[in-house]
Amino acid sequence: MRVSSRQDIPEARRIVVKVGSSSISGENAHQIKTLVEALAEAHCRGTEVVLVSSGAMATGFPYINLTSRPTDLPTLQAAAAVGQSRLMVRYQELLDHSNIVAGQVLLTSGDFENDSTRSNAALAMEKLLELRVLPIVNENDTVATQEIRFGDNDHLAALVAKLVNADVLVLLSDVDGIYTKPPTEPGAERIELVPFGHLLDHVEFGSIGSAGVGSGGAGTKAAAAQFAAESGTAVLITNAALVASALRGDNVGTWFDAASE
Ligand code: GLU
Repeated sequence: MRVSSRQDIPEARRIVVKVGSSSISGENAHQIKTLVEALAEAHCRGTEVVLVSSGAMATGFPYINLTSRPTDLPTLQAAAAVGQSRLMVRYQELLDHSNIVAGQVLLTSGDFENDSTRSNAALAMEKLLELRVLPIVNENDTVATQEIRFGDNDHLAALVAKLVNADVLVLLSDVDGIYTKPPTEPGAERIELVPFGHLLDHVEFGSIGSAGVGSGGAGTKAAAAQFAAESGTAVLITNAALVASALRGDNVGTWFDAASE
């Protein structure tokens, strides 16, 4: 169905929800439970739900004795390799309460550029959704180089939304949407609605995420949202703590209208 406003989200056939590392690790580690409960509620009312989750690296850091994010790519990749399986176990344990089975899908940007890998990924995702499995997608960090890394998965989430023809993409953040200037600055106001084609040139984007474990920011979210909107998927950017309200259609975050068909 065509989802033309937040209030339509509970009626959406297929949604992609993206969460970043800083929203589910460190002092926000408890939010993974809130997230899974909201996803389970949507899944159980019949919505097809895909989760795009980073957090593999942040989850892996303590297991290889790192207290902060390293800068070299091989160490980041090693942390992701260690953390990805732990992250999936955390998700599956929480999904078990609702009898939902998760499926791990790891992709790189090259997979979307190559016809055969893109088509394989699309077919696998369709089958997972038909089987009522909840796919959990992350970047395949071990084979991604600095040049082709997605960063904190906002762009990956937009590509996944396009791949599966999602009705809505929900990008979860540490703040409730896009603000006219960094939300800590006086006078910053939440932008409620971005009509399709609106360029956001009056927005002053701040620097990258707060917790120092991820790599995204408001600018990458807005760019990903505009890409998804052009591909026909409406987008809501909101705070990870508000995910349940968002999936119930409440008036939270920043809504990006999709291109008309
Ligand atoms: N795929 C990475 C992860 O899951 C992305 C995190 C990042 O670059 O910050 O950890």
